[in-house]
Amino acid sequence: MPQKLNRILIVDGSEVARTIIVRILNEEMPETELVTCGNVQEACAWLERSHFDLITTALMLPDKDGLELSRYVRASGHHHYTPTIVVSGDADARLLREGFAAGVTDYFDKSLGYRAFAEFIKGFVQRNSGLVGRILYVEDSQLSATVLLRLTERHGLQVVHTTHAEEALQLLRETAQGGPHEDDAFDIVITDFFLQGRMTGGDLLHALRAKFHYSQQEMPVLVLTGSESGARQAEVFHAGANDFVSKPIVEEVLMARIHSLLLIKQQFKALKRQSEYMHQLSITDGLTGVYNRRYLLDHGEQFLAARHNHPVGAVLLDIDHFKKINDNLGHITGDRVLQALGELLRQRIPEHALAVRFGGEEFALLIPRCTINDAEQCAEDLRKEIELLKPAGVIITVSVGLATNQQNPELSLTQLLNRADKALYAAKAQGRNKVCA
Ligand code: GH3
Ligand code: MG
Ligand code: MG
Ligand code: MG
Repeated sequence: MPQKLNRILIVDGSEVARTIIVRILNEEMPETELVTCGNVQEACAWLERSHFDLITTALMLPDKDGLELSRYVRASGHHHYTPTIVVSGDADARLLREGFAAGVTDYFDKSLGYRAFAEFIKGFVQRNSGLVGRILYVEDSQLSATVLLRLTERHGLQVVHTTHAEEALQLLRETAQGGPHEDDAFDIVITDFFLQGRMTGGDLLHALRAKFHYSQQEMPVLVLTGSESGARQAEVFHAGANDFVSKPIVEEVLMARIHSLLLIKQQFKALKRQSEYMHQLSITDGLTGVYNRRYLLDHGEQFLAARHNHPVGAVLLDIDHFKKINDNLGHITGDRVLQALGELLRQRIPEHALAVRFGGEEFALLIPRCTINDAEQCAEDLRKEIELLKPAGVIITVSVGLATNQQNPELSLTQLLNRADKALYAAKAQGRNKVCA
C-alpha cells in the first residue's frame, strides 16, 4: 500500500473552527480524507482504531492540551512517526520550550488565518509525501532482507531485492536509460557491504561509479555495514557511497537516510529535466519550432562529417514576396504563415533530416543519404504541398535552391549552403515558385 499523506485528524475544541478548516481543506485538497474531533480523549480513541497520516491539534483543548496529545502519539505503536502539528494563537513560550520534547513536528500560528493554515497543511503534505521511489536492494542474508523489506514496504517504497551484486548490475544495465526496461529504472541502491559471491558491496559500488559512471546524485547508494569501525566507514565512503547505516538497523535512522537519498535523486531528476528543457529552448526557433540558425552553424559541419560516406543534400526555401503579406495583412498574419510552414516542414521532411529557420522567411534543410535527384524530388514535393497549404488563409509559394556534396564530398557546410543559395537566387530570377539545382 503506497504511503500517501491522505488522511488527516483535526483536533480543535471549537466547532466553528473545525467547520471552517474542513471546508477550506476540502476545497484545497479534495483527495484528502478529514476526520475531526473536539478533545484529546476523542482523538486518542480515533488513533486507537484507525490510521492517520497527519495530525493537527489546537494547543488548548477542553480536556487536556495539544502537547499531551503529541506525547500520546509518540508513545503509540502505529502512530509513532505520524507528523503532529500544533495550532496555537501565538508563539506560546511553553510550546517552544516543551514542544520538541513532546514530539511536536511543527507549529502554526492561528492568527495568520484559515486560508494560510490550509496552504501550510498543503505544503506540509507535499513536502512529506516525497517518500516515493524504486529501490534496488542487494542483501545476501535472508533474515536481514525480510526485516528491511517489511520496513520499506510499510513506508510505501517499491523495493527489488537481489542476493548478488552481479545480478544487481545486470538489473541496473537493463533498466539504464536506453535499455530494454528503462521505465523500471531505480532511484537509489541499498547494498549490504559483505556479500556472498565474487563481488562485495564495495565492488558493486566501484562498478556503479567507475563503469556505469553514475555520480552520487544520479544513483545514490546507501551501504549497510555490520561493523562500527571508523576504518570500515571510511572505506565505504572511499568506494563512493553516499551514506551508510550500521546493523542492527534502527527503523528511524534507515528511513531518514533513505528519505534524504531519495530527495537527492528527485533533485537530480528535476535539474536534468530543466537542463534538457533549457537546451531544447536554446536550439529551437521559438516561432516555427524547427532548429534555429545557431544550431545549424554549431552542428551542421558535424552532421556532414558523420555522413561522410553518403551524399548530403542542402535545400534552401524562401517564401516568395513575403514582405507583401506583412504589408497587406499585418505582421501577425505573417507570423502565422511562418508558424504553419515550420509545422509542415517538421512533419514532411525525410527521416533524419534537419529543418532549420535560416533567416526571417527562409528555411534550410539538410538531408542525409540524398542524391541530387532525391533532393529535387523532395523539394518539388514540398513546393507543391506549400502551394496548397494556405496558412492563415493566404496562398503562399516558395522558391527553392538545392545542392549536394555528391560530386564533391569535401565541401564544407558553408560551401554547400552557398551553392544552394546561388540556386535559390536562380529560382527567384526565373520567376519564383520554382526549384533550381
Ligand atoms: P522575395 O520573393 O524576393 O523573397 O521577396 P520577399 O518579400 O519574401 O523578401 P524580402 O527579403 O524583401 O522580405 C522578407 C520579409 O520577411 C521582410 C521581413 O520584415 C519579414 N520577416 C522576417 N522575419 C519575420 C518574422 O519573424 N515575422 C514576420 N511577420 N515577418 C518577418
Ligand atoms: Mg552480507
Ligand atoms: Mg522571400
Ligand atoms: Mg529572404
